[in-house]
Amino acid sequence: MDILKTMETALSELHEAGNYRVFAELERHCNDFPKATFYDDAGETRDVTVWCSNDYLGMGQNPVVTGRMTEIIQKCGAGAGGTRNISGTNHYHVMLERELADLHDKEAALIFTSGYVSNWAALGTLLSKIPGIIVYSDALNHASMIEGIRHSRCTKRLFRHNDPEHLAELMAADDPNAPKLVAFESVYSMDGDIAPIEAICDVADRFGAITYLDEVHAVGMYGPRGGGVAEREGLMDRLTVIEGTLGKAFGVMGGYITGPEVLVDFVRSFASGFIFTTALPPALAAGATASIRYLKESSAERDAHKANVAKVRAALNARGIPHMENPSHIVPVMVGNASKCKWISDVLMTDFGIYVQPINYPTVPVGTERLRITPTPLHTEADIRHLSGALCSLWSQCALARAVA
Ligand code: PMP
Repeated sequence: MDILKTMETALSELHEAGNYRVFAELERHCNDFPKATFYDDAGETRDVTVWCSNDYLGMGQNPVVTGRMTEIIQKCGAGAGGTRNISGTNHYHVMLERELADLHDKEAALIFTSGYVSNWAALGTLLSKIPGIIVYSDALNHASMIEGIRHSRCTKRLFRHNDPEHLAELMAADDPNAPKLVAFESVYSMDGDIAPIEAICDVADRFGAITYLDEVHAVGMYGPRGGGVAEREGLMDRLTVIEGTLGKAFGVMGGYITGPEVLVDFVRSFASGFIFTTALPPALAAGATASIRYLKESSAERDAHKANVAKVRAALNARGIPHMENPSHIVPVMVGNASKCKWISDVLMTDFGIYVQPINYPTVPVGTERLRITPTPLHTEADIRHLSGALCSLWSQCALARAVA
């Protein structure tokens, strides 16, 4: 078999299905968030406004964070110099883990190189090392959780998305003595809907299960100190593990779990995805700590962000641009056709200086292709008018249906 030929065939199938991913080459700028320079295929540049970043609050360019990173890079150097076990544990990693445990009101925390790795490594370890454990996984859980679960090879049940009654039915059918873990998210990234956390915890308690909540799209964003939806709803103590990222609202990079001391120590001691990899750069850990501390104290960014999300929704409503109503900060503008979605995204970039990545199958189901818009506190009224006006004109050009106000 010609291995490279097999790869070529697989890639041309992606092209034919319209699912080949093209990355927009950007240069982001400090002091100018959410603007960026876009480099096209010919190397030409143009200024664009980014409307699809997960740096939800602009903390990646906040001087509190960049200043701290600069200071620590000068003090400690570029890299950690080793795995956590062999010379790589820096004072700033330890400080960050303390900060995270405090943020979620848990006994301990452990950081990983990304949110993806934290889910994959923590779930993979917990579920493979506890004999007979059964995992109950929300049907729309993120790929990182799915891969961790798959890697563990434990018994798996999928419960219907955000459906505690279905979860209860599945649990009732299983051995009451089997150890159980429920894995779910708070804010789901593509639809922006929010889990009924309390109802899911009630079911988990009834059947003696431990709970694992991914708050990747919620940390820094919800709750009086940015502790996530569980903090906002006073439910942090109902969750065994709260997992999050340092790469979205906190603006840096890395992932983490928080939970009981013994569980965190267990993952620290057995997870190969934690043990056998170089630790995060100390400057990054210090920058993330500064970001978390800042957002614990300041609600100004969260408040301004909420106001801007409402303004974007109102502007879209006024123009009849259909978008999914949900209780979060994610605004999915529904196109419902892969090639139109890609075309709109391309023309927004070239003709309007607006960057929104198209979201097509397999990330979302066929027929629900969309532009996932993520307003930030730093988009201006003029930016919002420009976005809604551009969408309005492209909607007409594509003969797409309008939403009825
Ligand atoms: N969980 C969810 C729900 C996510 O959407 C993502 C990434 N988009 C991750 C985990 C992975 O986080 P990170 O980007 O830090 O790897």
